[in-house]
Amino acid sequence: MSLLVLYNTLSRSKEKLEPLNDKKINMFVCGQTVYDDAHLGHARNYVSFDIIARWLRQRGYNLKYIQNITDIDDKIIARAAENNTTPELLARRYEERFMEDMSAIGVKENVDLYPRSHDYIKEMRTQIQLLIDKGYAYLSEGNIYFEIDKFPDYTKLSGMKIDELSKHRIEFEPGKRKPYDFTLWKKAKSGEPHWPEEFILEDKPIIVDGRPGWHIEDTAITNAIFGPQYDIHGGASELIFPHHSNEIAQDEAAFGKKPMVKYWVHSGVLRIKGEKMSKSLKNFITIREVLKKYDPEALRLMVAFSHYRSQIDFSEDLLKKASTSLNYLYSSLSMIYNAKESESAARETEKIINEISSSLENEFSTAMDNDFETPQAIASLFNAISSLRTVVEKNTHVDGDSKKKAINTLLNCASVIGILKHDWYKEPLSEEAISMIRERDRLRREKSFDEADRIRTELKNNYNINIEDTEYGTVWYREQNSQGRR
Ligand SMILES: [Zn+2]
Repeated sequence: MSLLVLYNTLSRSKEKLEPLNDKKINMFVCGQTVYDDAHLGHARNYVSFDIIARWLRQRGYNLKYIQNITDIDDKIIARAAENNTTPELLARRYEERFMEDMSAIGVKENVDLYPRSHDYIKEMRTQIQLLIDKGYAYLSEGNIYFEIDKFPDYTKLSGMKIDELSKHRIEFEPGKRKPYDFTLWKKAKSGEPHWPEEFILEDKPIIVDGRPGWHIEDTAITNAIFGPQYDIHGGASELIFPHHSNEIAQDEAAFGKKPMVKYWVHSGVLRIKGEKMSKSLKNFITIREVLKKYDPEALRLMVAFSHYRSQIDFSEDLLKKASTSLNYLYSSLSMIYNAKESESAARETEKIINEISSSLENEFSTAMDNDFETPQAIASLFNAISSLRTVVEKNTHVDGDSKKKAINTLLNCASVIGILKHDWYKEPLSEEAISMIRERDRLRREKSFDEADRIRTELKNNYNINIEDTEYGTVWYREQNSQGRR
């Protein structure tokens, strides 16, 4: 088997994947701050890492994948106050909705653990104490800060210059020694959730009543679960600085293991009308809204049509295109699955079907092994399905064994992208439906559109068959009652 290479932000180059521990991979991806519904920008990020996780597992790695839930945060506190509820209740409610969204788009099933920041307060305190003991952290005006000047490696992930940091960290806090120092433990205002934790400063115990800063939860969680060093840390590219830079600083300074993470993997942004889709810009479309109209598999396919590191300029056309492509895949799969088999056809079709299967297998894994190149991987899936469709259209009967093998290969590749999970394709089209589709095609060629539309309505009402005219030709699909539209 070939080697898997992935782009590491730390070295700014593609590197061979060589886990710290043989075939075992520990992966952490920054998770959701639960104060509102997840939107398409989040979906892009989580689906991208989900595909990476699926591929690593299919490749035979023993992957442990965790994603944190930030349930203590300024935004949660502010939103709870607006809604006359407690931060805890608000966080639980949105966490529940987030989990519903993640299971609808096939992400939740692949994450081993969603640890909450609430459950790691003791670990955060312990890590902050270590940083105090080693001289990296200081208490000032009720806040505990990390002193960046004490950690010369601070800019190794972002590639920034130390004097650039101040420009990006504009929030002025009088207690900071340098404006770019970041908060590890934050003084709580009245009414906010707070923990009266005891810290030892200059051999004297002192209660610092407060709550964790945002960055500390990730390393407290990963250190508790993976230890001070692990294989892959993922997240959106906008987190490189300051969030991930802070994680490296506090983890390597506290535990002394370098590098904290071997491979830093970052996904690109999703933009809408030239701006990043975000809660603060109020230009977001929630996953829920999308799933009212589109199959979750169409959403996944839309994400996978772009490489995970590239930018997606979202418009609804992308979803429509993905949806049409998905329908093409399903109707072709149905034709292939239901193609008649015979012994005598074996010699003629067996060889060609086997060739299609094995080139799909090779092309798909070559693409995925090259920094998870999903656009190429999907292209190989489309090629294979089109070629198989041609074989079954040209032959009244095909070889059964090679056909079954080919379908397995197709479904196996599709499962990495997280598509083709519905099983309606197994039910063959009836002879009447086939002749009606042919008749409709003929009428459309003759420009008798009213007649053609009448057949389309009849197919929908009497046979539950939807017709779509696409760049691939006539595509049909069945509605399903399961999750999402289908
Ligand atoms: Zn994070």
